[in-house]
Amino acid sequence: MINLEQTRKKISESSALAVAENTFEKIEKTKNLNAYISLCKERALKQAADSDARIKAGKSLSVLDGVPIAVKDVMCIEGTKTTCASRILENFVAPYTATAVAKLEAAGAVVVGKTNMDEFAMGSSNETSYFGKVVNPIVPERIPGGSSGGSAVAVASGTVPFALGSDTGGSIRQPAACTGSVGIKPTYGRVSRYGLIAYASSLDQIGTFAAKAADVAPILNVICGQDPHDNTTSANTDFVSNGGFGSQLGKDIKGKIIGLPKEYFAEGLDPKCREVIENALAKLEKEGAILKEVSLPSIRYAIESYYIIATAEASSNLSRFDGIRYTRRSSESQNLFDTYSKSRGEGFGHEVKLRILLGSFVLSSGFYDAYYVQAQKVRRVITDDFKRAFAECDIIASPATPGLPQLIGECEKDHLSMVMSDLYTVSVNLAGLPGLVQPCGKIDEIPVGLQWIGKSFEEAKLLGVADFAERVF
Ligand code: GLN
Repeated sequence: MINLEQTRKKISESSALAVAENTFEKIEKTKNLNAYISLCKERALKQAADSDARIKAGKSLSVLDGVPIAVKDVMCIEGTKTTCASRILENFVAPYTATAVAKLEAAGAVVVGKTNMDEFAMGSSNETSYFGKVVNPIVPERIPGGSSGGSAVAVASGTVPFALGSDTGGSIRQPAACTGSVGIKPTYGRVSRYGLIAYASSLDQIGTFAAKAADVAPILNVICGQDPHDNTTSANTDFVSNGGFGSQLGKDIKGKIIGLPKEYFAEGLDPKCREVIENALAKLEKEGAILKEVSLPSIRYAIESYYIIATAEASSNLSRFDGIRYTRRSSESQNLFDTYSKSRGEGFGHEVKLRILLGSFVLSSGFYDAYYVQAQKVRRVITDDFKRAFAECDIIASPATPGLPQLIGECEKDHLSMVMSDLYTVSVNLAGLPGLVQPCGKIDEIPVGLQWIGKSFEEAKLLGVADFAERVF
């Protein structure tokens, strides 16, 4: 992996252009990983050259000026293909740029390409992409996680120091765990969803992958904040002027109370992973952290309630894609054209169709009360569980996944195993909280992830603790 400091050093020793060119060489060399769906080479080289001119003139825009980043192909970038890894959007060229990406570009970052993902961000293994599976560079026989698998692999394979992803139920944190990288899902409303193609609007949030916890801070400082295009966003201007998301980096962990939800360290968690996580937490205890058992009793309904809410929202969000239109010449001799369209049946893959059917079912008049309304009630109860737990601790630690990344093909054979991958992550989206996953150990060279959960808007605390833990683990 390559971190921000190393990248900046390379830019200052050579140039942003040389770093961008080298990034494309690295992408070419790791093509077999299938991490990228498309590249924006011309655009990126121009941006890098502009960055060099600014740096030379002493007018660098930010610490990210000239730094290459990758963006999950679920975010629009004007003039580039944005496919959501779906056949239905195979040829869609975005007419505008997502706010998070526009802000990074305004800070000088250079977008090199769009990363592979599960179709419409639905999945946990990156096996549902119309453009093929993504390979885990650490353990090629295992999944890289999903749905932001391409972004995780772009960082884990060292092509870029950062890659944006989206997380509806774990899609940043679970692939971070599978690839040994750091991944954060900020508080709901921190980052504008404008230009993020919606899966489930009340759960979706943009976040980032990075090589180090501390590297996340400059990205969040740029992408977070209020956006008139997304009225669920909240302002953070004061916050950034008070040291921003990096304000708790470098602090120690003495006296911090780490809550361990007993329901998360119970049945369902692979005993070997549990051992690695407990060993990691014991190291923090040695450094003065206080480990305390807490309880989230309603969490056992989280997966069910997540899949009802997420699919209900997806069935309504995806109704805007009503087919693929083609124009073709209908007669060779005369200049006649006709238009025909392919149906949603041809445009969407199996997993997406499954979700649309499930979502339409739970919203149908006979079942709305029994499923959708119940799930919304459970969502509230889970949110209250977290509130009660945070009255007893400063931060919550949990496993990131129930076990090691599955072997390739396993999720296709056993759909439930894919669904259960997000056992420890979906509740964080249901409650709108920030969550960060970092590597905490290995089993036979396979990374094991640890998740930190904070109160709303406490990303700085997550980064401070994760940064400290990174040095101890
Ligand atoms: N795996 C979960 C799902 O398929 C989460 C996906 C996501 O966070 N985008 O719904």
